[in-house]
Amino acid sequence: MSSPDPGNTARPSPRPALSPSRAADFKQCPLLYRFRAIDRLPELPSTAQLRGSVVHAALEQLYNRPATERGPQTAGALVGPAWEQVIGAEPELATALDTEQQAQLLDESRALLFGYYRLEDPTRFDPQSCEQRIEVELADGTLLRGIIDRIDVASTGELRVVDYKTGKAPTEARALAEFKAMFQMKFYAVALLRSRGVLPTRLRLIYLADGQLLDYSPDEDELLRFEKTLMAIWRAIQSAGATGDFRPRPSRLCDWCAHHAHCPVFGGTPPPYPGWPKHPDDGDADTVLQQADPAA
Ligand code: SF4
Repeated sequence: MSSPDPGNTARPSPRPALSPSRAADFKQCPLLYRFRAIDRLPELPSTAQLRGSVVHAALEQLYNRPATERGPQTAGALVGPAWEQVIGAEPELATALDTEQQAQLLDESRALLFGYYRLEDPTRFDPQSCEQRIEVELADGTLLRGIIDRIDVASTGELRVVDYKTGKAPTEARALAEFKAMFQMKFYAVALLRSRGVLPTRLRLIYLADGQLLDYSPDEDELLRFEKTLMAIWRAIQSAGATGDFRPRPSRLCDWCAHHAHCPVFGGTPPPYPGWPKHPDDGDADTVLQQADPAA
């Protein structure tokens, strides 16, 4: 059953929900999902994640300004306030970098923002929304939740979903990253289709690091099939959640997993299963960091 699009100001409901990041985690490795969504084991953010968060925050602040004030100099000047926003949301990050590292991160963020102007001219249009919280219930009760970087609506009513990536566009070695990025975009397209009853015309990934746009036009049948996939993932998560049977699924992606110490594949022991929590995933809706997955 569809529910109304709650808009930017809606508070996430207290019900368990599926977000794109955690859905991708479960597909990659059920035990990783458990560590992140249920145990909520801490993970130190990478510099790339921090940079992505700063750039996302700066772009949101940029589009909050009148169109005539959205030039490159403004974008560059917003990097400092964006860093403060990131730190304000997650104060423990204030000590994550020393002064030199922080200065470098801010310089790199400015460079990414200046590069953005090669791809779009933010003085020429007004998005309908930035960092839009979205929550919608599917027909089988699966609750989708996330934050969409930007939604544009044309005068004809056509809907465009936009996501910024601060990593480079996927190469052959990064096919998985491309898959995860498109998974996320289709997730949002399904959420918008069900909340607004409108099929997004275009899904746009903006790769800021190398100045590439990746546009994709989904068709309704494809999204309906994808919706069934999301329902199946949520059923599988709930089934594992009832018993705590979240099995490790080792892959080359283990190299980037922060939880070797708790993973049996690496000789570790998971903490005692705490049981299915009331709020197993607010992930994409809760933290500044998780809004920006620079690798995906
Ligand atoms: S190290 Fe690999 S198998 Fe273990 S939890 Fe992480 S992703 Fe899963």
